[in-house]
Amino acid sequence: MMRTLIDRLEREGVLSREEFVALIDGRTPELAQYLFERAREVRHRHYCKDVYIRGLIEFTNYCKNNCLYCGIRCGNQNAQRYRLSKEEILDCCREGWELGYRTFVLQGGEDPWYTPARIEDLVRAIKAQHPECALTLSVGEHPREVYQRWHDAGADRYLLRHETADAAHYASLHPKNLTLENRMRCLRDLKDIGYQVGCGFMVGAPGQTTDCIAKDLLFLHEFQPQMVGIGPFIPHCDTPLRDAPQGSLELTLYLLGIIRLMLPQVLLPATTALGTIHPEGREQGILAGANVCMPNLSPVAVRKKYTLYNNKISTGEEAAQSRDALAKRIASIGYRVVVSRGDHITRI
Ligand code: SAH
Repeated sequence: MMRTLIDRLEREGVLSREEFVALIDGRTPELAQYLFERAREVRHRHYCKDVYIRGLIEFTNYCKNNCLYCGIRCGNQNAQRYRLSKEEILDCCREGWELGYRTFVLQGGEDPWYTPARIEDLVRAIKAQHPECALTLSVGEHPREVYQRWHDAGADRYLLRHETADAAHYASLHPKNLTLENRMRCLRDLKDIGYQVGCGFMVGAPGQTTDCIAKDLLFLHEFQPQMVGIGPFIPHCDTPLRDAPQGSLELTLYLLGIIRLMLPQVLLPATTALGTIHPEGREQGILAGANVCMPNLSPVAVRKKYTLYNNKISTGEEAAQSRDALAKRIASIGYRVVVSRGDHITRI
């Protein structure tokens, strides 16, 4: 019965909201194995056994927003704030280049010191130093003109998780000044301008129901993003959601499989949050259909301070510097880390 739903999802790329709910709530370990087999086959058809790597540079943890789940929210007085300089960021990129990274991701809080002009300057400097590399920005919500300006300066991709496609759920996770409507406006502007765009959500975010997830999946089908970032919610002790339970590995893996079937060519990371809740979380993510890893390239001294959630892995094998260790782990499950920009297939 459920296998028929999975087969139809593979053929048609979408199900009804009720069917998504049934597929998620009716999951069993056997069904998950079947889903992962289908997801791997689809992934191999488009991307073989290649795993793309992105060097993640967390360049500022100052943030003017106060999202209820996030450890770098402005209301967290205990956060030790830092901001990397342009030179420090260029050094990270240089090191990343040597290690074989051909995509850099600049991620940060919404830091007013990093004005549109300063970010534009960063984009130009990185693209001048590494013209062969792709540059991804992940710096939150901005007016269309600002996104256009950064794209004109050379930025290739943009990550902005939609967080949840259910407006009431969105409102329960964010302060009043942040709306699902504006988040969606940003995503549409980014896509219109010509960025490769990533959206996504946390699995097990407080208040999330299966119906919310079904809406997220329907939104993915409608929006057709080039990238999708999902990872388990992990509570942070200095946020209002400190006592909420962590999202599950098992459901995250299941959703990775579903997303691979829905968007066969999508760039789908096995995220740091997945690696944080289980030592083999990222390998399992790849076996469920993921094809991207985003190791941390930030200077070791600041890594511990970019704490969106507690216990975030930050040194050891998930660090960008441990590229060989990562390559070995990926090879041990039959995949290979490649030196490539790793663009979405329709863009090559
Ligand atoms: N300021 C940027 C980057 C945000 S951090 C932006 O607004 O896009 C990147 C992602 O981390 C967020 O989109 C969110 O989905 C995730 N995140 C934040 N807090 C988290 C938590 N406690 N557990 C798991 N993921 C979290």
